[in-house]
Amino acid sequence: MFKTIIEPFRIKVVEQIKMTTPEQRQEMIRAAGYNIFALHSDDVIIDLLTDSGTGAMSANQWGGVMRGDESYAGSPSYFHFRDSVQDIMGFEYVIPTHQGRAAERILFSVMCKPGDVVPNNSHFDTTRANVEFRGAIALDLPSAELADMDSDFPFKGDMDVAALRAAFAEFGAARIPLVMLTVTNNSGGGQPVSMANVREVAAVCREFDTPLYLDACRITENAYFIKQREPGYADVTVREIVAEMCALTQGCTMSAKKDAIVNMGGFLATRDPELAREEQNLLILTEGFPTYGGLSGRDLEALAIGMQEAVDEHYLHYRIASTRYIGQHLRDAGVPLLWPTGGHAIYLDAKRFAPHLAPTQFPGVSVAIALYLLGGVRACEIGTLMFGRHDAETGEETAGPRELVRLAIPRRVYTQSHMDYVIEVVIKAFENRDDLPAYRIVEQAPFLRHFSAKLEPVS
Ligand SMILES: *Cc1c(COP(=O)(O)O)cnc(C)c1O
Repeated sequence: MFKTIIEPFRIKVVEQIKMTTPEQRQEMIRAAGYNIFALHSDDVIIDLLTDSGTGAMSANQWGGVMRGDESYAGSPSYFHFRDSVQDIMGFEYVIPTHQGRAAERILFSVMCKPGDVVPNNSHFDTTRANVEFRGAIALDLPSAELADMDSDFPFKGDMDVAALRAAFAEFGAARIPLVMLTVTNNSGGGQPVSMANVREVAAVCREFDTPLYLDACRITENAYFIKQREPGYADVTVREIVAEMCALTQGCTMSAKKDAIVNMGGFLATRDPELAREEQNLLILTEGFPTYGGLSGRDLEALAIGMQEAVDEHYLHYRIASTRYIGQHLRDAGVPLLWPTGGHAIYLDAKRFAPHLAPTQFPGVSVAIALYLLGGVRACEIGTLMFGRHDAETGEETAGPRELVRLAIPRRVYTQSHMDYVIEVVIKAFENRDDLPAYRIVEQAPFLRHFSAKLEPVS
């Protein structure tokens, strides 16, 4: 009835933002070696570095923190957690882990052997690293639609089903111990996967007797997109959509730092009792006893409540609308970005934002630093600094596949006026884009260099 979509919560506790001037930020980014990961977070005004573990817990979750039971074995908090996950997802065995990557390490240790192939719509970086650490091949099979940054295609996160069939034909089912679907597709711009795609992928997996697992970090955001965009789902609840997605699969890994709105936590789930036993044995080795898995009882309690809050449709309506609101305003101002906007982030296209800079001059870094200097907004480069290659012998830089700058939106943390401010800052940077300097690396590590590299502007 009214066009204003309000934050469906009141604020009970506030955290002061330290305001800084452009001159102070100039000095702080210089001291940080022009690397946004080296900034102190209290020198940032609006922190859009990640949506992982940065959400604001509810009063109900904080109440759960106080009720958390810290018994080593058989804590009621574990059973609250297990029952809540089963209630939403329907998986029989639920194994807590300290975060998503711990669940991944255990899953691939148990299911994969060297030489195996794991197809995924797009592997997240820790997922890829854990598959490869096991000596297996992480195969990305994104839909062709993802390559077009401007089309309105509603489900750019889909897996390319023909490519999945081709993978089974090329490698043989014996080398493919499982197939994964990442919902929403984080490395693919937070784009959703359709139910039709989950169904088709599940059918191919059934044909080859291969289990299908979800990387379920943002499954409730994905379910909300299905409700909004997929024919036949407008009147189905998000809870029912999540249950339907899970029913098509044999298990999942989950970083609860995303949709379950906790600051730390994750889990691994399966329907297979034999597998669950093996996974629990590994869990004991590195994470902890199966009823806590590296988490405190209070974490499990907050997670149990967060899972239920994550399927609240008023919350999801506000969440998806606020991400789209930023994207729409930037697009209207001509700022190049990945369209449609995904669930958890806006991805600026730095290649078109700063066309005078070659990829090896780090246009994404230049845009991200401009946002910090102009407005104290911290965003993350996903481009040549993150994915490019450096030849240590010749000093030659090879470009990454894309030049993106991600503005990830923490859950329930910022208000609309914060987002209006971010929109203004990005538009200002875009208006001044001709002045964006090139950067060069002055110091870098041999791998994951984006975390620790030192850079400088080239005048
Ligand atoms: C964050 C994330 C992970 C890893 O989870 P952590 O909790 O950071 O270990 C795995 N997959 C996807 C899609 C993610 O977004």
